[in-house]
Amino acid sequence: MKEELESILKEAQEVKDNIKNLQDLENFRIKFLGKKGLLKNILEKIVNLPENEKKELGAYFNFVKEEIENIYEELKRKLESKPFIKFDLHHPGKKIEKGHLHILSQAIDRIVNIFSKIGFDLELGKEIVTEYENFDSLNMPKDHPSRDMWDTLWIKSEKEKLLLRTHTSAHQVEILKNRNLPLKVIIPGKVYRHEATDSRHEMQFHQLEGLAVGESCNLQELKGVFYIFFEEFFGKKLDIVFRTSYFPFTEPSLEVDIECILCNGKGCEVCKYSGYLEIAGAGMIHPFVLKQALIDTNKYYGYAFGLGIERLVMLKYNIPDVRLFHSGDLRFIKQF
Ligand SMILES: [Zn+2]
Repeated sequence: MKEELESILKEAQEVKDNIKNLQDLENFRIKFLGKKGLLKNILEKIVNLPENEKKELGAYFNFVKEEIENIYEELKRKLESKPFIKFDLHHPGKKIEKGHLHILSQAIDRIVNIFSKIGFDLELGKEIVTEYENFDSLNMPKDHPSRDMWDTLWIKSEKEKLLLRTHTSAHQVEILKNRNLPLKVIIPGKVYRHEATDSRHEMQFHQLEGLAVGESCNLQELKGVFYIFFEEFFGKKLDIVFRTSYFPFTEPSLEVDIECILCNGKGCEVCKYSGYLEIAGAGMIHPFVLKQALIDTNKYYGYAFGLGIERLVMLKYNIPDVRLFHSGDLRFIKQF
C-alpha cells in the first residue's frame, strides 16, 4: 500500500506542470484530495489495517497528503494572483500627435498680446447685431449712401432688424456706454460681407477694432500706437503714412499705409510698385458717435481704427490667397 501512496504522490508531482487554469486545478483537487479522491480511497483501506501497520502507513499517508495539499495551495496562489507585466523602462514611448491652434487664432493671440502691452483691454462682441449697432449708431441712417460700402447679410427677424456684423465698429457705442473713461480697448472678431470671393476677399473674415477715448486722445498718439504695433508684429521698424479718406463714423478719416514689408519700400508686385501697403482704416471718432454714448464731446476725444487680421497674416507670411485660411488643407495649416 506504501507503493500505492508513492505512485499517487509521483503522479501529483508530474501533473502539476500541466495545470494552467483554475478549472484544471479543481480537477486536480477532486482527483487527489476530493471526498471520492485517491487519498480518501486509500485512507479507508489504511483504517482497516492492523494497529502496527496502521501507525506506520498512517504517518506516511499524512506526509503524502501534506505534500499534495502544498502542491494544490501553491498552484492556487499562482493562478489567482494577477500576472506581473514586465516592461522595459528604456523602450521609447509612442509619440502622441498634438494639434495646434490655427494660424489665425495664433495671430489674434499675438495681436491681443501686443496691444495689451500698449494698454489696450480686450473686448469681445456678438456676431449678430442690430441695425442700430451696425449702422445708425455710427452715423449711417437708413437712406445714407455709405451703407452701400458694406454688402450686408441680413437675418430674418420679427422685431428689430438683425444682421451679421459687417464690421467690429458695431460695438463702439455699446462699449463706450458701458465702460468708464478714459478707455482703450480692442475688439477682435469675425465679420461678414455679402460679396463674391476671390484671392483677396472672403465672405467671412476677421477684423480688429481699436478704440480709445480720453481727454487727450489725438492722431499723434494713434500713429505712435501703430508704430509700436507694426514693429512688434512684423519684427522691424516700418514707415507709416496717413492718407485722408472717408468713413461716416470718423472725422477726419484716414487710410493707413505701411512701408511694404516684402520689398522694404523699393517697390514690388504686392505693393504694386508703390513701396507702401494699405493696412488699416482709422480716424478721430465722429462726435455723432460719442454723443450716442452720451459722452461730452467738448471734453473727450477719441480715435478708432480697424485692421484686417487675414491681411496682416498674409503679409507677414507671404500667403497669396485668403481662401487658404478656411480651406482645411493640412499642408497649409501644418506650416504654422
Ligand atoms: Zn513691395
